[in-house]
Formats: sequence, structure tokens, C-alpha cells
Amino acid sequence: MKKTVAKEDYLKLIYKIIEEDKKVSVSLIANHLCVGYSSVSNMLKKLKELGWIEYKPYKPIFMTKKGNVIASQIVSKHRLTESFLVNVMGFKIKEVHEIAEEIEHINSPKFFNRMKKIVKDAKTDPHGSKIPNCEF
Ligand SMILES: [Zn+2]
Repeated sequence: MKKTVAKEDYLKLIYKIIEEDKKVSVSLIANHLCVGYSSVSNMLKKLKELGWIEYKPYKPIFMTKKGNVIASQIVSKHRLTESFLVNVMGFKIKEVHEIAEEIEHINSPKFFNRMKKIVKDAKTDPHGSKIPNCEF
């Protein structure tokens, strides 16, 4: 797995935990990913260096404005892709998540702006989750 992909996946998980109104903690992330606490805290240090989160050991984890912008973009790309695959390409709902997991890491504003237009600015994905409205 590419390093940026792993970081983006962590950030996305933090975004989803916050979206569910839960407190972000090392143990919650570790349980979710089935990894050890030390690998979670190593990764959180990297996300902190990037300015994406605020993190001190044993304190709740917060997302910075910068982190939130990036997370919204990734989540939006993921959910737009799922809408595109179902609404335009005729995929079944259960088939689209794995494909979207890969496409969400593509860095191309042109690609996603066009996709957004094609799905007519969809507000929710095929699973009913809200698509964050953001600039790519
Ligand atoms: Zn999905």
C-alpha cells in the first residue's frame, strides 16, 4: 500500500468516527483496524506532522481545519464514485465499495468535478450517506 493511501485511510476513518458523533481515540482506531496501539500512535504522529490532526498521548484526538478539508475531499470522492458506479454504470450497491476505496485516492480535480456533474450533484451515496460538498 502506498504511504499516502494509508495516511488518507486513517484520516478518513477519523472523519467517519467524528461523523458518528463518537470520540476519536487510539483504542477505537486500533479496534477498528485490528492493529496494535503502537502502530496507531505512530501513524497519528505522522498525521499530526502533516497538520491534519491534533494529537497528544492519552488526550482526545481532534481534526484540524486542514485535515477536515482533506478528509471531506476523500469521503466525497468515495461517495461520488459509488453514486457514479450505481447510477451511471449500473453496478449493484454491494459491488461498489471496494472500487471506490481505490478511486478515492486519485488526485484529479477535473475527473471528480466531471463525475459530480454527471451524478447531478448527488447529495447522498447509494448507501444513504451524505456526500460532503467540497472543492477538489
Ligand atoms: Zn463505500
